[in-house]
Amino acid sequence: MSAKEKDKKEILQTPKGMRDILPEDYAYYSIIYDKIESIAEYYDFKPIQTPHLEKIELFTTAVGETTDIVEKEMYTLKTKGKDHLALRPEGTAPIMRSYIANGMQSRPQPVLLYYKGSFFRHENPQKGRLREFQQFGLEILGERKGVAEATIIKIFLTAIQELGGKDLIVHINSIGDKECRNAYKKELISYYRKKINHICRDCKNRIKTNPLRLLDCKEEKCQEIKKEAPKMIDYLCQHCREHFKDTLELLDAFEVPYIVDHTLVRGIDYYSRTVFEIFPAPTKEEETKNMEETKGVEILEEENKKIIIKKKESVSALAAGGRYDELGKILSKKEIPASGGAIGMERLISFLKERGVKPKAKKKPKIFFVQLGTSAKFKGFEVTERLRKAGIPISQSFAKEGLSDQLKIASKLNIPYAIILGQKEALEESLILRNMDNRSQDIVLINDIVEVIKKKIK
Ligand SMILES: [Zn+2]
Ligand SMILES: [Zn+2]
Repeated sequence: MSAKEKDKKEILQTPKGMRDILPEDYAYYSIIYDKIESIAEYYDFKPIQTPHLEKIELFTTAVGETTDIVEKEMYTLKTKGKDHLALRPEGTAPIMRSYIANGMQSRPQPVLLYYKGSFFRHENPQKGRLREFQQFGLEILGERKGVAEATIIKIFLTAIQELGGKDLIVHINSIGDKECRNAYKKELISYYRKKINHICRDCKNRIKTNPLRLLDCKEEKCQEIKKEAPKMIDYLCQHCREHFKDTLELLDAFEVPYIVDHTLVRGIDYYSRTVFEIFPAPTKEEETKNMEETKGVEILEEENKKIIIKKKESVSALAAGGRYDELGKILSKKEIPASGGAIGMERLISFLKERGVKPKAKKKPKIFFVQLGTSAKFKGFEVTERLRKAGIPISQSFAKEGLSDQLKIASKLNIPYAIILGQKEALEESLILRNMDNRSQDIVLINDIVEVIKKKIK
């Protein structure tokens, strides 16, 4: 292959980690967005759209300098006007920016918003991660109570279940607030310092840069150490403890299946108190195996009935989120209690496919529209519009020219009636209505066609 030919071939490839969404897959995006949007709208969430590009500082400040997202995964660029911009790697910081910048604090609180669209992270595509991916997010700004995060969890769960993804489990944890978390971090650091010779290289770094992420380590050698590590829940201050308890009580009332997962932390600085992830529930066999591996753990005094189910490390969450009371302060020095979460669209689509969920086919048309000759094609548009406005779905062939070819398609598709518009009919403002089963034909005026068809296909 010549160099030039090779260049041409490369032009046709999408950038690494990015891809075309073809009609078959697009149908999945549509059913998910339709479902979740209708539920969100019902509960009074309003749509919002922020730019795909934001100033870099928004993310370095809000998400945190030492997070993977900012350190390794952000797409950044310098514009001709010398602005430093980033393709948005996540949705929450832009929503909070917009809330503050547009004075939404003066609206009745809380403000309930939803958003959807593409996000960008420079991830390793070998792990099956896309560099352009889609999310659907819910955010509740201006609400201090746990009802906000419980509502978000409940809506996500309901949407996924109604789409056909039945067995789900919510992993939930509290990572406290600034005060109690600092005390916990100290304990965690001192625990890991004692084990420094037995932990992976990443964890050695995490001790200095982002100690909570120690609990996130997937390395084999760190798992036992992680299991014995101090638990945030034992260090929660009175307020954080009450908040967590209220949130869990609401989840009980909403009949949300959940487990308290002490190793759940989120990789972003702005989270405080509640963090959650939604997973496919483990199968019966996995559950028995896990019960044998882990003894029942007392979580809160009231929670001793709950059993920890270790999640499979390889399974990624369908949805995730949490409370981010600190973010408002980070961006504007104002107190803005808030919580939110997002569904990972690609992850959810593959989950629904695994469960055999198929997007519903459009209503099967009962009419095949055959058009013959140029003047018929012009008239044909008028006829089609009459049928469309009357809500009568039709099928037609744009490529085939001849009558018998088109009728063949109609019988192949098992469509019971055909309407035929030729030159002669076009001049006479009429159509031929053909019964595909017995091949009988009637001539019908274009003016009457909607009524005649409605009677036939009743
Ligand atoms: Zn490790
Ligand atoms: Zn606290």
